[in-house]
Amino acid sequence: MDLIIGAGISGLSYAAKTPNDYLIVEKDNEIGGYCKTIYSGDYVWDYSGHFFHFQRPEIKDYVMSRLDEKDILKVRKYTQIYYKGIYVDYPFQMNIHQLNKDEFIDCLYDIFTIDDSTEVTSFKKMLFAKFGKSIAEKFLIPYNEKLYATDLDKLDVDAMGRFFPYADKEQIVRNFKNSTNQSYNSFFLYPRKGVIKIVESVASHVDKSKILLGEKLLSVDMKNKKAVTDKRTIEYDNLISTMPFPVLMDKCGVEYDKEVYSWNKVLVFNLGFDKKGPEKQNNWIYFPDRELVFYRVGFYDNIIGQDKTSLYVEIGFDHEARDIDIDQLLDRTLSDLRKVGIITDQKLVASHPIMMDPAYVHITQRSEEDKARKKELLKQSDVYSIGRYGSWTYCSLEDNIHEAFSLAKAVAEKQ
Ligand SMILES: Cc1cc2nc3c(=O)[nH]c(=O)nc-3n(C[C@H](O)[C@H](O)[C@H](O)COP(=O)(O)OP(=O)(O)OC[C@H]3O[C@@H](n4cnc5c(N)ncnc54)[C@H](O)[C@@H]3O)c2cc1C
Repeated sequence: MDLIIGAGISGLSYAAKTPNDYLIVEKDNEIGGYCKTIYSGDYVWDYSGHFFHFQRPEIKDYVMSRLDEKDILKVRKYTQIYYKGIYVDYPFQMNIHQLNKDEFIDCLYDIFTIDDSTEVTSFKKMLFAKFGKSIAEKFLIPYNEKLYATDLDKLDVDAMGRFFPYADKEQIVRNFKNSTNQSYNSFFLYPRKGVIKIVESVASHVDKSKILLGEKLLSVDMKNKKAVTDKRTIEYDNLISTMPFPVLMDKCGVEYDKEVYSWNKVLVFNLGFDKKGPEKQNNWIYFPDRELVFYRVGFYDNIIGQDKTSLYVEIGFDHEARDIDIDQLLDRTLSDLRKVGIITDQKLVASHPIMMDPAYVHITQRSEEDKARKKELLKQSDVYSIGRYGSWTYCSLEDNIHEAFSLAKAVAEKQ
């Protein structure tokens, strides 16, 4: 029997595909993990904005085949950066010609005079090496420091993988006249009733009687293949965990250097207002300004076509940040939303805070090496760790489904 820890998209996808007998243990009282949706009056909110740009047709078909097409919105992505009181199209590096003349010249000059003698050993150094000092310092560094809540010199060169919008000099210059603003997702899909609809589609392939909700894994005896929950002891053949990787190691009694694993947490305020505000185009806006508390604000109303402002506001913290005062932060958020003109005379009528902890893991050279070694060690005892946090990575929900399907096949074939 395969024991699956977690009924998020990864755990459910594994269960949906494995031919083995299985049981899912989920500490929460609902399925979905980070892909839950909150319904509050007129508002539909996810834990944070969750949008889809499938790259693998077979996974798109699998998910979509059990959803009604009319409930899925296809949205042309429109996103901008609020930079010193003006709006610049995203990605910043492709749209420096929208800055004032002096700043544009600084950015352009710096791209063409990059010092390529320095070894690129971190995410921060990569930003300087690829885009020059001005683009790095005006947007890429302050924005990503607000998001990751860490020194970007700590992160691996490839910390954001395919999610980072690279652009070379030629693409940048070409974009001055012929704007394409291409990034990895020019269009995205979004279920009108929230991301939980995607989870429910996958969960419709899973036997509900095999999901134990409200039950928490406490420890694992890898030698005797027994898992202890707060309700029972379960014997397993394979253990598939989607918990954060360091948590799994703790539960399995695997020793590791705690310094190797760090992450940010993101406080998300979902906010509903009584009427529509002035912002009618953007799906979301990026805020590099360190004086503003949030790094990104998303507009559900512009995505689903609603006549009342419905926002998600994201604020990054180091994982060790303590004593976070939610009420005070909400006041600060509303004040900063007024400052940038997103709120004018709309009244707040509903709000819902969520702390996503972890949210973005800090991918470093050491974490990548240690993870690979420890995953191999766990595998020798038939313990597998998958998912965004189980694989300690930056990925999309589609990647989670792909990884879970691949593991289900590999585990079935080894027997
Ligand atoms: C701010 C933000 C924005 C995002 N936006 C997008 C997006 O636009 N598009 C996209 O595709 N992806 C997006 N993602 C990524 C997406 O949310 C994740 O890839 C996905 O939710 C990960 O699913 P998972 O099943 O691997 O992990 P989780 O959803 O974390 O599920 C793990 C499950 O394990 C359970 N669990 C943990 N410990 C225990 C225990 N001891 N016992 C029992 N159960 C336990 C948890 O309760 C949880 O249900 C975003 C993520 C963040 C943080």
